[in-house]
Amino acid sequence: MDRPVIGIVGNLLIAEGGMFPGMERSYVNHDYVRAVALSGAVPMLLPPLSGADGVKEQLERVDGLLLSGGHDVDPLLYGEEPAPELGFILPEVDEYQLAVIRLGVRLGKPMLGICRGAQLLNVAFGGTLYQDIPQETGRVKHWQKSPRHVGGHTVQVASGSLLAHIFGKEAVLTNSFHHQAVKDIAPGFAISARAADGVIEGIERTGDAFVVGVQWHPEMMAEEHADMLALFRALAVAAAGDESRRAKAWDACKDNKGGENDAV
Ligand code: MN
Repeated sequence: MDRPVIGIVGNLLIAEGGMFPGMERSYVNHDYVRAVALSGAVPMLLPPLSGADGVKEQLERVDGLLLSGGHDVDPLLYGEEPAPELGFILPEVDEYQLAVIRLGVRLGKPMLGICRGAQLLNVAFGGTLYQDIPQETGRVKHWQKSPRHVGGHTVQVASGSLLAHIFGKEAVLTNSFHHQAVKDIAPGFAISARAADGVIEGIERTGDAFVVGVQWHPEMMAEEHADMLALFRALAVAAAGDESRRAKAWDACKDNKGGENDAV
């Protein structure tokens, strides 16, 4: 195997209209596929299953995991009743993705959680969320009206964190499309990035594992911003494992766009 395979954890989309209203589709946004391919790794879609059955077999076939974004996380999972501002939830998908996260960490799979993926990572290990940022905290616009590749707000990165190592600087511009965020960080995790209003924008598991969550959508920026592609390259390299495979992963990355840091 020359290049690492990154399992992109999928979601369910329930058709509201069209030929089959109510039909469920397994899906990921294609931005994730493009970003993983750009990083030099091979993307593989993992459709949501019914609960945890089959998760082990899925995970045995991938070298790393990308937890995609999506709908809100069921607040009952972190001990809160739903606030009026809570959006759409789908407990069956939560259950499957939590099983992926918990088993993935146990198997030592490098993992990048994006938006909902970062939130679920926190909840999986005992953390909590803000159900709705505008009601509970934060005065930075976290749901931008500008196009998805545009960096809308600044994120400060904690020195010494994996994110600081990946970006090579203390601040990056990120897009922002979220109304929920990490509130209490899970035991065994550290806060690695914050917006100017204090909202947590990055978390990572302490220790040697590559388990990183970011609240923004780097997959929507990876084609234009080398910083954001670097996140996917870091996942690819971590997933490549031993030194020989790691070298091959970097070779595969070399010809792709990016490499230098964007100015903020
Ligand atoms: Mn934000």
